[in-house]
Amino acid sequence: MLIGIDDTDSPGGMCTTYLGAVLARRLILAHMRVREARLVRLNPNVTFKTRGNAAIVLDVDGDPEKAFALACNIVDELADFACENTNPGVVVADRKPEAAFYRKAVTDFCTVDEAVDILNTIGARYRGWKNRRGLIGATAAAASDLGDHTSEILVYREPQRFGTPREVDRESLFAAEAATFPHTWDTVDPVNDVVVCVPHTPDPVLFGIRGESPQWVMAARQMILSEKPALEQIWVTNQGTDAHLVDAMIGELREGLSYRVHGIVSDPPKTGTGGHVSFTIRDGDLSVRCMAYEPTKNFRHIVRQLLPGDVVIACGSFKKGSINLEKMKIVSLVTAETVRPPYCTACNKRMTSDGKGKGYKCRKCNARAEVPEVQEIPRTLEPGWYEVPPTARRHLAKPLCRGLPEF
Ligand code: ATP
Repeated sequence: MLIGIDDTDSPGGMCTTYLGAVLARRLILAHMRVREARLVRLNPNVTFKTRGNAAIVLDVDGDPEKAFALACNIVDELADFACENTNPGVVVADRKPEAAFYRKAVTDFCTVDEAVDILNTIGARYRGWKNRRGLIGATAAAASDLGDHTSEILVYREPQRFGTPREVDRESLFAAEAATFPHTWDTVDPVNDVVVCVPHTPDPVLFGIRGESPQWVMAARQMILSEKPALEQIWVTNQGTDAHLVDAMIGELREGLSYRVHGIVSDPPKTGTGGHVSFTIRDGDLSVRCMAYEPTKNFRHIVRQLLPGDVVIACGSFKKGSINLEKMKIVSLVTAETVRPPYCTACNKRMTSDGKGKGYKCRKCNARAEVPEVQEIPRTLEPGWYEVPPTARRHLAKPLCRGLPEF
């Protein structure tokens, strides 16, 4: 059976993955077999998410009635019901819901009614609390069909420490990254000298290590020194796979979806207040703004070097009329050149323009020339893929260290 759970946490505490890890242990104690623990990230632009729009599913052998009771009990016990935005959902399905629902939930928006229709069709056991919105994520997690996938080991704190400062040895995190990158990623951001894998929110997670396999995340995890953890769980996930990106043309972008879009840079990038960088790309008569926000740090240095005429593939969420860049491919670069009046061969002085299309004239000897001096400016960019740093990376964004996209 598949046990999907979502929406148990609030900004004030809890985490659906923690609840899932505790449930996995209770199922095992009840003589069930947990074949896989899966963490799926859904559309990152859903406004009522608490943090990273995560939902979980456990693939379990055992008695569905008993499993459903255990799952509902744990939600009653641990979910943060005090928060208006906590609307848990639990699904126990013997049959896998259609994968199309997962794909919609990761790329687009779904309704509770759509989820409930699917659950009724497959005869699943389910329960939704309050406005039942968690049934969307719980159903999507159970429906998930991950082609590409990665691993994350989440290390959870002892309950008495929830909300207190976390003790994780900084140097051991940098050492773990150095020893296991590119097989693990986003433990730290070495360029910006920032720890990425330790949250600052009051939830049960102590730290999480992301990587290509359970073996690699364990290898890194074993190098990390910290306060005594309560619980650890390796999750199979769609993190770092670009599952949220949809290929589209500029004219067809919809608010709140995430895209991969081809275009030609049509104006020089501008840095606005707060250090946010924006530029426009076009495809025929249609254009869209691209944004590299201040938290994307050094990625903005790349963006600022773009020139009108460069061809790019922009990847990111479309929000309020802009694509918020997660990564970008520079497909081709225009030749940059300066056009200036030529030197007068007699006087060795630069001539002046005699008006648009009227050639050039030497002010000293009145000599004339038709052709300007054209000089190529060497471009400081190379074609290829560029990405935001680990500190600014979204959960679903595929890091370039996992291999370059085939576009
Ligand atoms: P955390 O990452 O800390 O677990 P969260 O960010 O996952 O928290 P939730 O509390 O789970 O946030 O809230 C997300 C809510 O949005 C859930 O109720 C979920 O069912 C719903 N949801 C997820 N994806 C979609 C979607 N594509 N369309 C509509 N609702 C969605």
